[in-house]
Amino acid sequence: MMDYEKIKAGVRLMLEGIGEDVNREGLLETPDRIARMCAEIYGGLYEDPAQHLRKQFTVERDDMVIEKDITFYSTCEHHLLPFYGKAHIGYLPNGKVVGLSKLARTVDIYARRPQIQEKMTADIARALEEHLNPRGVIVMVEAEHTCMTMRGIKKPGSKTVTLVATGVFEENMELQNRFLSMVRDR
Ligand code: ZN
Repeated sequence: MMDYEKIKAGVRLMLEGIGEDVNREGLLETPDRIARMCAEIYGGLYEDPAQHLRKQFTVERDDMVIEKDITFYSTCEHHLLPFYGKAHIGYLPNGKVVGLSKLARTVDIYARRPQIQEKMTADIARALEEHLNPRGVIVMVEAEHTCMTMRGIKKPGSKTVTLVATGVFEENMELQNRFLSMVRDR
């Protein structure tokens, strides 16, 4: 589990490092606040999507399932700054589906970790592959990275888009396009 004392000590050191007075009123409780916040925003490290994806339902028809516009907040591991946006998931079942809210839960578990967007996208796709054994999975993530917008090259509004396609989605462009057109249809 997380070591709150280490987090608190680290935050104090960082504040001292930037020349702040860690004992001034506004900062006194900041280390403790950040430690508790870490439990929330990095809590996905201690959760397994299996708890949500295990419960499945049998379906007669293996039509495409899409859950789009799943809002998420994550943290870039290079700067520890937020990146946030929307994840879109599609899969072609193989006789089994999961409840739609479980797809959003899976996104949430992988979002609440320090990481890069590419890994988050691949992790979500892999979890669905492993647990549902579908004919194919496609995951698209669109996000704004505050390490690109509030610092560095400062390009507000620019979006990073990542896409992972497995199984039938990997080879079938028509299926990919069907997914993309449904995701873009607002
Ligand atoms: Zn970054």
